[in-house]
Amino acid sequence: MSRTTPPRPVDLLALFPELAAHVRTTTRLHPRPGAPEPTGSSVGGPLLWPADEEWPICREDHDVHDARRPDDARLRRRVLSAASSRTPRGERVRFTERERADLARADREIVLGVELPPLPMMAVAQLFARDVPDLACPDGADLLQVLWCPFDHLGGVPAVVLRWRRAADVVDVLADQPEPPVMESDYYLPEPCVLHPERVVEYEYLTLLPEKLERRIREWEESAGHSYDHLSIAAGWKAGGWPWWTITDPYPMTCECGEDMRLLLTVASSEWYGDDVWRPIEDDPALGVAKASRPTMITIGRGYSLWIFICPRSYDHPHALSMQ
Ligand SMILES: [Zn+2]
Ligand SMILES: [Zn+2]
Repeated sequence: MSRTTPPRPVDLLALFPELAAHVRTTTRLHPRPGAPEPTGSSVGGPLLWPADEEWPICREDHDVHDARRPDDARLRRRVLSAASSRTPRGERVRFTERERADLARADREIVLGVELPPLPMMAVAQLFARDVPDLACPDGADLLQVLWCPFDHLGGVPAVVLRWRRAADVVDVLADQPEPPVMESDYYLPEPCVLHPERVVEYEYLTLLPEKLERRIREWEESAGHSYDHLSIAAGWKAGGWPWWTITDPYPMTCECGEDMRLLLTVASSEWYGDDVWRPIEDDPALGVAKASRPTMITIGRGYSLWIFICPRSYDHPHALSMQ
């Protein structure tokens, strides 16, 4: 089933034609739980990884004292999902004896007394250019793979590795794909999801627009009762588009080479918020907000997004991350 963003309640471009100079398209990825294959675009699925290529390892320091096992987190999710799906809405969830025992097992604490050895990274997402029109691939590549080390690194976010490749080059796919034995939090374990990409139009963040236009929009917001920020930039996982500065004021993302960096991918904690204009029309309204809006079960910080920026001058220049 595809996913469709409902039409915006107002046509911003009709109201403010000058926005034409500040338009970008973005591809909303619309991840939803499923059984992704290595040959398809996914979040939390197996990667189309060559059998003879080394899997990325994180060799940075991990200054942590307790951690979680991915399998324990999966067990916990399974138990909660089974118990809540048989519970009528509004009633308290009751666990069976067996489920209580499983939860106790899933919640056991892993105390790390010693320094962690280098850890294999965790597969987070892979995007095929054929599915994601706003994925800006380097020449000759048509597949982006994203992995992370599920511990807080610089900036309080996981360390991210990007791999670009040509899908046709991968003949033998790595069968038993590694994953880190421990992670900082369940929040960094993506639930296996298939994608339902949809291209939408966005307008640049308000305070980055020319001053006169920004002023006119602010005046309109007061009388119209709409929020430009809310309508102009899409919520949820997406490729390309504009960043949405929710925590800090906008600051320039500049590459070491001096070039302005471009948003490659947004890893979001939520696909939409409450009764949001970004909630796809196909999503079952009977599904509670918490469950429906958080299909990947990833949480960045306190429910923010992780933005991955790249340098338009060269794919060899290091990427940059920002949490917003
Ligand atoms: Zn690490
Ligand atoms: Zn650069």
